[in-house]
Amino acid sequence: MRQYKQLPPDLELAPTLARRVNQLRELRNLTVKDLSKMTRFTLERVEDIEAGLESWLSATDRQRLAAALAIEPVLLQEVETRPKQGEKGEVENEAIIDAILNGARQLQCPQCGGQLQCSLQDALDLDGNPTRFAKAYCTKCPFILK
Ligand SMILES: [Zn+2]
Repeated sequence: MRQYKQLPPDLELAPTLARRVNQLRELRNLTVKDLSKMTRFTLERVEDIEAGLESWLSATDRQRLAAALAIEPVLLQEVETRPKQGEKGEVENEAIIDAILNGARQLQCPQCGGQLQCSLQDALDLDGNPTRFAKAYCTKCPFILK
């Protein structure tokens, strides 16, 4: 049986994983060492999590940490942040697409800074209307605009 201990009703949970773990650990009167033992994470790992160096957990690790803190795993999950790479890449790609559609051809690869080979391709969209797609690939690295 999993046991969740009530949190104080007036408790305002910290907005980041790092601060929330630290907050809940102190609330449960646990030291970093206690938490490390209970989760079987290394001391350094617990410190990294509380320092914000590790900002998301695998399902197993989240469950261990939540069990040690006697809280529901969702309370950790809701403040975890996935690495932003994907998001940043999409924003960069959109900027490149815009530039190509506006006529730019001398663009830099967002990954290596090399020269991008850019072109516009005429095509039909899903409704059969003529449209243009921006295409680009890097001459130096495997980057391809998708
Ligand atoms: Zn490149």
